[in-house]
Amino acid sequence: MKKAAVVGAGTMGNGIAHVFSQHGWEVALIDVAQPALDRGIATIRANLDRQVKKGTLTAAHADEVMGRITPQLSLKAAADSAVVVEAASERPDIKFGLFEQLDAIAAPDAILATNTSSISITEIAARTKRPGQVIGMHFMNPVPVMQLVEVIRGHATSDATATWTMDTARALGKTPVEVNDYPGFVSNRVLMPMINEAIFCVMEGVASPESIDTVMKLGMAHPMGPLALADFIGLDVCLAILEVLHKGLGDDKYRACPLLRRMVAAGYLGRKSGRGFYEYTK
Ligand code: NAD
Repeated sequence: MKKAAVVGAGTMGNGIAHVFSQHGWEVALIDVAQPALDRGIATIRANLDRQVKKGTLTAAHADEVMGRITPQLSLKAAADSAVVVEAASERPDIKFGLFEQLDAIAAPDAILATNTSSISITEIAARTKRPGQVIGMHFMNPVPVMQLVEVIRGHATSDATATWTMDTARALGKTPVEVNDYPGFVSNRVLMPMINEAIFCVMEGVASPESIDTVMKLGMAHPMGPLALADFIGLDVCLAILEVLHKGLGDDKYRACPLLRRMVAAGYLGRKSGRGFYEYTK
């Protein structure tokens, strides 16, 4: 059986494990924290149950999917995997350390993929002795639902690694798009300036958050307005990605709106903190 390891059992990691397992892979789901593993496994179960209720999966298939996922606390569980998808916290020190360790643990021919939203694939790959086998595999949230996988080639990523990753994403039922390694890749380089501009519109009193979101939903056929989307992603995450764009591309057009900075400083992080541009009750 094909074996994959997913490192990080949070929002993205449990979704990635779910999708690999649903397509026949045996998956080691690895995290440093037992409560994170427990939450990740519970989330996969709840999402599978929802699929069963909707009639898109049988109860027996859901149990099989669950049975192929093993929660693990040690990276050593990645030793016999053909691919490792890293979906740990978005911090360069964590990712760099993980890739140094995974390079030593994983099989020599294994591919090491990262789900990072903004950290350079080239810099992550440089921490390993196999930069040709390191690639970005950027799934979208929620992973079981969203079609896109942005496949990001680092400076040294080999053609064979890129082809394997594109093929694997398709085999997982996703639509992969290949892009090169520049700050924010394509998804966040295009999305974040739009969100930032919407926040400038709020700050300058051009319109209310509701009006801005309505313009973009009804006028541009976006399923969600940029401010509701920013709340969904997390305003701290939006700020961090804008900082990466600003620093990496060196252009002031990517400077984060002062209102975004102020809201993050005040703890208005969006849905996860109960308020951002909108208020959320549990
Ligand atoms: P999260 O905070 O929900 O989960 C991160 C998990 O990583 C936590 O469970 C944490 O315990 C674990 N972790 C931290 N250090 C670890 C280590 N050394 N070894 C193993 N596990 C470790 O984060 P998330 O939202 O799932 O994001 C994960 C990655 O996916 C990030 O790189 C993020 O940028 C990217 N991403 C997130 C989204 C999103 O919408 N949340 C979308 C696309 C990509």
